Amino acid sequence: MNKSHYTVVIVGGGTGGITTAARLLRESRDLYNEIAIIDPSEKHYYQPLWTLVGGGEVEAEVTKRDEASVIPDGANWIQDAVVAFLPEENRVVMASGGELSYDYLVVAPGIQLDWGKVKGLKENLGKNGVSSNYSYESAPSTWENIRNFKGGTAIFTAPNTPIKCGGAPQKIMYLAEDYFRKAGVRDASKVVFGSGGTIIFGVQKYAKTLTRIVQERDIETKFYHNLVEIDGENKQAIFEHLQSGERVSMKYDMIHVVPPMSAPDFIKQSPLSAENGWVDVDKYTLQHTRYKNVFGIGDATSLPTSKTGAAIRKQAPVLVKNLFAVMRNHPLPGQYNGYTSCPLITGYGRLVLAEFDYNNNPAETFPFDQAKERYSMYLLKKDMLPVMYWDGMLKGVM
Ligand SMILES: Cc1cc2nc3c(=O)[nH]c(=O)nc-3n(C[C@H](O)[C@H](O)[C@H](O)COP(=O)(O)OP(=O)(O)OC[C@H]3O[C@@H](n4cnc5c(N)ncnc54)[C@H](O)[C@@H]3O)c2cc1C
Repeated sequence: MNKSHYTVVIVGGGTGGITTAARLLRESRDLYNEIAIIDPSEKHYYQPLWTLVGGGEVEAEVTKRDEASVIPDGANWIQDAVVAFLPEENRVVMASGGELSYDYLVVAPGIQLDWGKVKGLKENLGKNGVSSNYSYESAPSTWENIRNFKGGTAIFTAPNTPIKCGGAPQKIMYLAEDYFRKAGVRDASKVVFGSGGTIIFGVQKYAKTLTRIVQERDIETKFYHNLVEIDGENKQAIFEHLQSGERVSMKYDMIHVVPPMSAPDFIKQSPLSAENGWVDVDKYTLQHTRYKNVFGIGDATSLPTSKTGAAIRKQAPVLVKNLFAVMRNHPLPGQYNGYTSCPLITGYGRLVLAEFDYNNNPAETFPFDQAKERYSMYLLKKDMLPVMYWDGMLKGVM
């Protein structure tokens, strides 16, 4: 039964929201029926596999489950969208007009995809050679484009904004390039990485491997190139050069686009946001910097690390520990060190498992050099991590 007040209200039932709820409920029976998860989405997605959907290795359907099926026992799902926060009154307002009050709030609505910021992108997505792994609907069209590619120019873009999974724009490029070789069309093709960023990867150890791969496989990198427009009819991608301000037009035969992203608008407009729009939390404790009964987790937060599900796996135990401490009026014991991970797929059956912290120092799990491409790590990504996600993380056990 839905109530109008809960001990804990969680905004967003994605990776961060569900993991947090499951952990809270595992640790305290007192919270049974005292947690509300507000999320309008009928479905829950395991987004990390969308790269392999685009690469033709996995069917899109396996990445999707009913939201109802991932709500932990003891939590109440409210299928609605939060539109406003009233943190002084401990209340949230929903699109339906309903309101919920809380003792503690966890904010986890993910990142916003700003498709509309690239002119012509929405209209051409899924046609005219344009695709993107960044939505469930459009990821399969990436595979269509790759497997039907007969040579010409294949462009892979990355925006100049923060994004979720910083490595994903290039993972699909390495898969496509590998496929073009296998399909015998590589000699007739040019592969271009058009990026609004300035370097291939932020952590030196893995950047070295990627730089070598890009050179050996004859991939053209164009940094400071921010995609601003797609002319689908003429198959032209228009970039803005971030140093000169010039517009640079490139002809493509297929293009994989990663849209610009930002904090969700309803967060930007709320008292919870930092100046840059993200949920303003302490980078070590995940507690809101102004409202002590509010915490944030995941892509929507100001945490200065790469936005991934792997990062959330390490954030959730810290958040839960600190939330219980606030409930008991204790000092906050949990400290998040910025851990994040990026499984950099470099081809079919090859993967570099990047893991690092706030200081961009490697924070590796395995006792071998993870900067090397490995088949075992590819299998980890493709077969093991999804099981660990559905049966472990979302159940609050890892
Ligand atoms: C192509 C791709 C590849 C990726 N690869 C990897 C990878 O290899 N490894 C990795 O660790 N991560 C990867 N990620 C990133 C990972 O999926 C995200 O970082 C993670 O899902 C973020 O979790 P979150 O809870 O912050 O947001 P999400 O999981 O996106 O969930 C946000 C939830 O909030 C809900 N919501 C939105 N607005 C509202 C509102 N107004 N009110 C209430 N609810 C709302 C949404 O419906 C959604 O259910 C990848 C992502 C993509 C797209």
